[in-house]
Amino acid sequence: MSKLSDPRTMLETISRYDFDFHKKFGQNFLIDEGVIRRSLEAAQVGKDDVIFEIGPGVGTLTQFLADAAHQVVSIEIDKKLIPILEDTLRDYDNVAVINEDVLKVDLVSLAQQYHAGRVNTGNTDSGSISGANASREPASAPAALAPLRIVANLPYYITTPILMNLFRQRVPAQSITVMVQKEVADRMCAQPGSKDYGSLSVAVQYYSAPQIVELVPPSSFIPHPKVTSAVVTMELYEEPPVKAQDEELFDHIIRAAFGQRRKTLTNALSSSPQVPCSKEQIADALEQLGFSPSIRGEKLSVADFVSLSDHLGT
Ligand code: SAM
Repeated sequence: MSKLSDPRTMLETISRYDFDFHKKFGQNFLIDEGVIRRSLEAAQVGKDDVIFEIGPGVGTLTQFLADAAHQVVSIEIDKKLIPILEDTLRDYDNVAVINEDVLKVDLVSLAQQYHAGRVNTGNTDSGSISGANASREPASAPAALAPLRIVANLPYYITTPILMNLFRQRVPAQSITVMVQKEVADRMCAQPGSKDYGSLSVAVQYYSAPQIVELVPPSSFIPHPKVTSAVVTMELYEEPPVKAQDEELFDHIIRAAFGQRRKTLTNALSSSPQVPCSKEQIADALEQLGFSPSIRGEKLSVADFVSLSDHLGT
């Protein structure tokens, strides 16, 4: 059977099952083999890896992941896609499909269940499964920790909650490689002072080093989305290079700082119920860090926000 990235195979599969696309689930299925191959390369998917895929759709990306990795675990919310996935993935013995809302899945426990996580060496020599597993094996759990990666063509309506959930749960993955709306990719990678810089930029760059791999036109999907997309890969830090003492407060500060972009940082933070500090305390902390009390959040780097959070938390 030819792969689902072939538009004819995709359309034939969809019509055979009389599948109706659900806009509410952000269903735009990839039909571009080049984009898929380059995404797997950017994600550095290896033969020893366990991959968590969010939203497999009819299984297009899943088929390529299953060819390249040791085990794929795909989480799909739409129960109508499950019988289709059983069919399109029937030749693969290393794919598990979970019919769930990814926002409700405990991904840390799931990683433990599959003996997958962060492997520190930067290569797969130690801590990963043995060389014998370099060829495809039945999807039994390996004895030692396998590198975990997250690869997905995300449902765009919940991109930010999914990413924040992965970060906050501290899912022990090496990397996250995702297709997102281009504007969101720009925000993820934006630097201080630019118009795209905001709370998502600070959060993503606190936990990872993001990089746009490529832009993807609407014609690479069925149906065509209204927007241009982008593949972004994020190498996750084992520990943030600048770590906030109180990450909950840090989180509240960045949300408040960008919640009302036109306000000064002092006014934005002091009017947030989640930041328990007076205007004077905030202005004082900013001055101690060498900033004017009238500065806006968009000028502060990730490290500046961490320093501010640590000052206000003590
Ligand atoms: N991976 C497929 C592809 O590339 O062709 C489909 C990608 S499509 C953009 C997003 C997928 O995520 C759909 O299959 C949709 O049903 C699924 N989805 C939407 N919300 C979800 C959720 N909360 N949890 C899990 N899957 C979800």
